[in-house]
Formats: sequence, C-alpha cells, structure tokens
Amino acid sequence: MPPIGVMGGTFDPIHFGHLRLAEDMADALGLDRVLFIPAGQPPHRGTPHTQASHRLEMVRRAIAGNPRFTADAREVQRPQPSYTVDTLTALRAERGVGQPLWLLLGADAFLGLPGWHDWRRLFDLANIAVATRSGAQLMQPDAIMEPLKSEVMQRQVAGKNQANRPAGSVLLRATPPLDISATAIRGMLARHDSARYLLPDAVLDYIHEHQLYVHT
Ligand code: ATP
Ligand code: MG
Repeated sequence: MPPIGVMGGTFDPIHFGHLRLAEDMADALGLDRVLFIPAGQPPHRGTPHTQASHRLEMVRRAIAGNPRFTADAREVQRPQPSYTVDTLTALRAERGVGQPLWLLLGADAFLGLPGWHDWRRLFDLANIAVATRSGAQLMQPDAIMEPLKSEVMQRQVAGKNQANRPAGSVLLRATPPLDISATAIRGMLARHDSARYLLPDAVLDYIHEHQLYVHT
C-alpha cells in the first residue's frame, strides 16, 4: 500500500515553503498522495486572518495541476477546534490499519509538538517527517528537548526503504530552506508591497480579487 502524506497548516496564505516541503517529502518517501488539510479553528494560535473558505480555495488553486496533491476540507468543515490527533484518527479509520501515513511538519512545528493535544498518540497514528527550516538546526538531536527527544531517538529512520510502515517512525530530513512565511507575506500585502515569487501567481490573483490581507 503506497504511503500517504498529511500536510496541515493554517495556510494563511499557502506559499512555496509549504509546497516545496510536500513535494520534497513526496519524493523522499515515495508518497503516492499528499493531503493538504487547512486548519479550521487552529487550537495553538490566534484566529486566522482569513476565513476558512478563502484559505481552502487558495490551497485548491495552489495545488491545481499537481497529480500527487489533494485538498482535504475536513478540518474547515468542523466547527470545533481541529486537533491533528482527531484528523489522523479519522484518516486511520477510513484507510485501515495497514495504510502508511506520514505527517509532514516543518521544524518549528515539530519542536512545538509537546504542546499539541494528546501529542504522544500522534506517533501511534502516523509516521512523522520533519523538514529543517532555515534557522532551525534540527539535525543535531541536542537541539531537541525532552520529552520529544526520547520519542525521536527510539523512532528515527533513514528514509524511503522504511516509508511503508503504517506509523511510529520519525524522519528528520534536511531540505533546502525557503525562507518564506505567511506572516511575512501578510505584512508585504498590507504595505502594498509585491509578494510575487513567494507564492503561486494563482494564489496571488485570488488574494487581489478578494482583497485579502489589505487591512491586516
Ligand atoms: P505563519 O507565518 O502564519 O505562522 P507559516 O508560513 O509558518 O505561517 P503555517 O501554516 O504556520 O505556515 O505552517 C504550516 C506548516 O508548514 C508547518 O509544519 C510549518 O513548519 C511548515 N512551513 C511553513 N513555512 C515553511 C517553509 N518556508 N519551509 C518549510 N516548512 C514550512
Ligand atoms: Mg507558522
């Protein structure tokens, strides 16, 4: 059964940092498909600047034409906070115990994992692939604090040949960093600066069409 990637985020807006992470991990792990799942009401942070329907539509436009990428609306359709552990539980129930699942995370998100709801259970539900992001020196295990460190030490794998386990592995992968953040993009748009070449033109066109981020 080919492994599937799960790429969560606020995507406020989606940009090339998100898309490269998913594309790079899809190659590294031989992922058949990556599900992009925009968060509805993210529990770990403030309310997104843009309503969920816009964030979902921007994801759809960004991934159009990539046969490996799919938008998944389940979290934006949920009125309660979206916990990743619930989303993975649902995916596991739909796809069965044998389905290899890979949760794709940037280093900053990964280092914050112990703050997530029921975080240890994430390792039972999925494998976790971590891309280093500029500024985060994740490849030295000393950079990781307990209790996350012991989870990683027990579970670390090298890559593709171990990608077909259903859950429980951790891949730390150095990826060429793209120093792009949605926060910086929102700032540029609010100042009426150009954000071109940081995110797909189709997303930027959508932002301008709907006058998103002009008042943030
Ligand atoms: P914000 O600035 O609003 O926090 P963001 O650009 O960090 O937005 P998020 O929605 O917070 O995007 O992140 C979703 C996921 O994408 C996280 O796992 C995060 O680590 C990862 N990510 C975000 N930007 C990059 C990037 N430039 N390179 C690699 N991973 C990234
Ligand atoms: Mg972020």
